[in-house]
Amino acid sequence: MPSLRLRHHNDCPRCPVIWAEDIPGEEYYQILSLRFNVTLAKKLSARHDLTRVEPSALSRWLEHARILESHVWHLPASAGHGIMVTLPADCGMPLIDGNHRAARALRLGEDFFAAVLSEDETHELLRMSMNPAIADQYWKRLLASKPHADDR
Ligand SMILES: [Zn+2]
Repeated sequence: MPSLRLRHHNDCPRCPVIWAEDIPGEEYYQILSLRFNVTLAKKLSARHDLTRVEPSALSRWLEHARILESHVWHLPASAGHGIMVTLPADCGMPLIDGNHRAARALRLGEDFFAAVLSEDETHELLRMSMNPAIADQYWKRLLASKPHADDR
C-alpha cells in the first residue's frame, strides 16, 4: 500500500503542507517549560497597537531562537508583524510568533513590528495554552526568579 507522505512547500518543514494550507490548525510555541498557543495569542493581540522592536533586542533574541535559514527566504514579503509576550520579574519578552519574519527584517535592515502582550495577558494566554495549574506554578517560579543580565 502506498504510504501517504505529506509534502511541504519548498520541501521545507516550516512551510505549509501542500493541500493543507486552508486547514486551520493550532500552532504552538515552546520556550523552556512554557507552551504558548499562537492561534490564541493572535486573537488576544488582534486589537493591539504595534511596537517597533529595537534591532539590537531582536538580534539578541534571535541568537537563542531556532531559525531555519532557508525558510527565512520562503516567506511572502507581506508576512506582517510578530507577537511578543511579557514574562514577569524582568524575565524577558520572547517573540512567540514571527521569528523567521524577524530574522529576515534584521538581515534586510528593515523595521520589524510586534504586538506586545502585557504581563497579565501573557499569564492568561499561558493558562489557556497549557494545564492552568501547571501554568500558575511556572508563573510563580518566574515571579520568584532573579533577573538574568541576558534577559534584558
Ligand atoms: Zn519554508
